[in-house]
Amino acid sequence: MADSTRSPGAAIDLDRSAHEHAAALRAGEYSARALAEATLARVEAQEPDLNAYIRVTPDEALTQADAADERLRAGDLAPLTGIPVGLKDVLSTQGVETTAGSRILEGFTPIIDCTVVARLREQGAVFVGKTNLDEFAMGSSTEHSGYGATSNPWDLTRVPGGSSGGSAATVAARGVPIALGTDTGGSIRQPAALTGIVGLKPTYGRVSRFGVVAFASSLEQVGPFARDARDAATLLEAIAGHDPNDATTAPEPVPDYTERFDRGLEGLRVGVPGEGLVAGLEDGVREAFEQAVALFEREGAIVDRSVALPSLEVALSAYYIIAPAEASANLARYDGVKYGYRFRGGEGMWDEMERTRGNGFGDEVKRRIMIGAYALSAGYYDAYYRKAQQVRTLVRAEFETALADNDLLLTPTTPTVAFPLGAKLDDPLAMYLNDLLTIPVNISGNPAVSIPGGFSEGLPVGIQLIARPFEESTLLGAAHACEALTDWRAQRPPLAEIGTPS
Ligand code: GLN
Repeated sequence: MADSTRSPGAAIDLDRSAHEHAAALRAGEYSARALAEATLARVEAQEPDLNAYIRVTPDEALTQADAADERLRAGDLAPLTGIPVGLKDVLSTQGVETTAGSRILEGFTPIIDCTVVARLREQGAVFVGKTNLDEFAMGSSTEHSGYGATSNPWDLTRVPGGSSGGSAATVAARGVPIALGTDTGGSIRQPAALTGIVGLKPTYGRVSRFGVVAFASSLEQVGPFARDARDAATLLEAIAGHDPNDATTAPEPVPDYTERFDRGLEGLRVGVPGEGLVAGLEDGVREAFEQAVALFEREGAIVDRSVALPSLEVALSAYYIIAPAEASANLARYDGVKYGYRFRGGEGMWDEMERTRGNGFGDEVKRRIMIGAYALSAGYYDAYYRKAQQVRTLVRAEFETALADNDLLLTPTTPTVAFPLGAKLDDPLAMYLNDLLTIPVNISGNPAVSIPGGFSEGLPVGIQLIARPFEESTLLGAAHACEALTDWRAQRPPLAEIGTPS
């Protein structure tokens, strides 16, 4: 039942984080329906500029909001009851089209929820829509989407990063307080950095991939976008944990991810690998990063600049063998028979399959399938794929050594701030270099978070924190401490004014 005594959204401050909304819902300050209506109004007002969503789902959202209000009345609460969430369009949602940003999946409506979505649904979260991404999560700018590019709310002529650019943009623009993305080589941390929010890639095996459209299965994890560490902790806690449907999920119990929020930075051992300060790092990013390191030092962290990750520079090359190899296998299923788009009227089965794949996939996806199939072919397997797996073992060992003496490693998240739309579209290698500092962490499987680290030329800079496997609490504790010491997060992008309830 809608609360008809208030004009929907009039009193709702959409700058609030999810935990602030949760407290207001419990206090009866406004209803979940009023929050959903205000959120939808803001999101829809921003869409012409942002294109953060492939599909906004107002009917589903309002139905879920009404159900959340029932739960609020009954006192049957979970942390995310009534909270609006954006879902990257690789996450299967029962009854709602799921495209992975690809035309080949147009019209594909899953009959089940993926595990992470099912877990949010159980909590009574409100799904606002399916967010835009690079096709099959291949890209760093969201320009490779089959449904148009997404803009950066800080500057609409620039990219929001990718591949989870839609989720990052809508959270940064104060559309939704939280959203889910996936990170195969940086697709949560890089867009979080470029839009000035928190984005966390969990330890490999921490979060179920069941029902998530697969790109490179040995590298990717679902993870949270939020505007503060507390919301990231709440969202991670909601989705993490063993899933009988995904044999790669770990049995480790899920802790309270705010358990280190009182510790501050005092005594934390922090490694700053020299390899993090790579060639191509913009001066403004370097300065912001050094200020972040200085902040850790001032607050009593023990900073070690002697830590080395010599294989970091070859991790990118290994990734661009392993990820395409897995992609070529994962994407073989799109044959026009089982899912979505099918070319009809061809000359027989093989012709129809060829044309389905030819029309349905975009250029970047075709490039990856070809590289992957080549690297796996007889005669090249040893030279490329096996070599890449050997590099993977080295990278993993180096992270283990570096984190034996340190609680955290610190690097910039990206070498540059958000770049102009179109700037790297014709130069795949330049695009790939964006993930130089995030990809090694997918190769090793460690958890990492990107947190706001100030600004360069008016655009957000991200700082990457890397921890030992299953120590997401350490990442979030440090992230929380940094928030309390800086006012970066209080700054909001100009686009956040659009759709402001009057
Ligand atoms: N940008 C990287 C790529 O294109 C990573 C993408 C991702 O994390 N999904 O593969």
